[in-house]
Amino acid sequence: MKLNVSKMRYVSQIFQPVISIPKNAKIKNTDITCKSQKLLLECGLIRPTSSGFFSLLPLAQRSVEKLIHLIRRHIEAAGAQRITLPALTAESLWERTGRLDEVGVELMKMEDRHGKKYLLAPTHEEAIADLLADVGPISYKQLPLLLYQVSSKYRDERRPKHGLLRAREFLMLDAYAAHAHNPADSHNPTESNNPADSHNPAGSHAEPDVYARLTNAYAQIFQELQLPVYRVAAPAGDMGGSVSHEWQLRAAAGEDQIAVCPSCSHATLDTSGSGCGRCGKEMEIANSIEVGHTFVLGTRYSEPLRALVVPAAGSTRPLAMSCYGIGITRLFAAGVEALSSEKSLRWPEGIAPYSAIIIGPKEGSREWSQHGWEAVQRVYRAAAAVPALGGDVLLDDRHGLTIGKRLLMADRMGYPYIVVCGKSTLDPVPKYEVYRSEAHHATQPELLTLEELVDYLSQRTIRVNKAMHSVNL
Ligand SMILES: [Zn+2]
Repeated sequence: MKLNVSKMRYVSQIFQPVISIPKNAKIKNTDITCKSQKLLLECGLIRPTSSGFFSLLPLAQRSVEKLIHLIRRHIEAAGAQRITLPALTAESLWERTGRLDEVGVELMKMEDRHGKKYLLAPTHEEAIADLLADVGPISYKQLPLLLYQVSSKYRDERRPKHGLLRAREFLMLDAYAAHAHNPADSHNPTESNNPADSHNPAGSHAEPDVYARLTNAYAQIFQELQLPVYRVAAPAGDMGGSVSHEWQLRAAAGEDQIAVCPSCSHATLDTSGSGCGRCGKEMEIANSIEVGHTFVLGTRYSEPLRALVVPAAGSTRPLAMSCYGIGITRLFAAGVEALSSEKSLRWPEGIAPYSAIIIGPKEGSREWSQHGWEAVQRVYRAAAAVPALGGDVLLDDRHGLTIGKRLLMADRMGYPYIVVCGKSTLDPVPKYEVYRSEAHHATQPELLTLEELVDYLSQRTIRVNKAMHSVNL
C-alpha cells in the first residue's frame, strides 16, 4: 500500500521515552551489559517489564516490522506459505516426542481450568508435525510443503541477559518443510567439512534442494542486511535429526565463539586452533551471536506424532522434515550490537526506524524568521515524495531546541540521512545540509539545493527502498 505522504510524521508526537542520565550521576546499572541494550533503552526504543521481558516501543516496532518484511520477502520467494500456530502447545505432544524431559527446565508451563497441561512453545516442531498428522496422510504430490510463521516464543532462561539478545519472550520466524521420505537418499545436502555433519547416522531424508533453497534464502537475508553472518555446521542438539547449521553474527558482545578464515570466509564452531579446512590458513577466533538455526530433522518428529506421507510407490510412512528459525528480535538487537558505537545507534540501513529526518531552524533564529515553518514542511514533503524513500521520513518539529542539539539526537538515533535547514537556507538559492550516519561517526555534510537534495536521496536510497516497498506503514 502506498503511503500518504501528506501525513507528516513529527518527532514531537512519537512515543519515545528517552532516559537521560545526568552527566555527573554515579549510576551503575549492572543489568545493562551490552551496547544494544543500553542504546535501545536510553533512546526510548524498548522498556523492560520484568526479567527477560521487553516492550517494543514505536520506533523499535517499526524497525522490527521492516525486518520481518525483509525476511518474509526472501522466505516467500523460496516458496514458503505463512501460517500462525497457537502460542500454547499441549504438553502431551512434547511427551510423545520425548522432549518434555530433555528441554523441561526451560519450558514455560501452564494448566487450563480442566487440568490440561500446556507449554508456551519455544519452538513448534511438535505443533507442526501434529498439524500435518491431523490433515494427513499427505500425498507425495503435495511435497515439498513449506510453511512458516512469525510469532512470539518463550524460553525460561535461567539468566536472561543482554536485553533482547537473550530474552525470555522473543519474536521468531520459524519455517518448516515436509519432504517425501526417501530412505535410499543418503546424500548430504551441505558442503560442510565439519565432522558434525558427517556422522549423520540416518543420512539426510530431505531433498537436498529444499534445504539448499531455504538456506540460500537465509544467506540472502543476511547479505541484504549487510551483516557479517556466517553459516557454520553445528551439532543438532536437542532438536534431533541429522544435519544442522547455525547462523552466527560476528559481534564482540556475543556469547558464542566461531573460528573464521580471513582468507576464504569459511567459518566453524571448532575454535581449537586448527587451520582452515578449505584453504589451510590460520583461523581467527571471534565472538558471535547465534541469529538463526537450520536443521534437517528427518523423521524425528513425524514418526512419534504419526505425520505421514503416501509415497509414489510403497506404503504410507513418516514424512521427512526440516526446520529453519531466525530470532527476529534477537537479530534486530544483534544488528544494532554489531554496527553501533558506544554512543550512537547504527542500523542495517534497510531496517532503521526511519530512513531520513528533516531538522528545521530554531524558532526565533534568522533562518526561522526568513523561511519559517512553511519552508521546512516543503523540504519534508519533497523528501517524503522521493519514491525510493516511500514516505519513510521524519520531521523534527521541536523548534524550541537548537539545531545542534537535535542534530546530535538524530545522529545518536542513527537515521541514515539527516537533512538540516540551517544557515545556508539564507543563501540566494537556499541550501540544505545533508549528513549520512555512517559507521561510527557523522560525515561532513553536503550542501545541496532542494532539487539536488531530491536527486541525492533518489540515487542513494536503493537499499532502503528494497526493504520498504511492500511495507504497509
Ligand atoms: Zn580458508
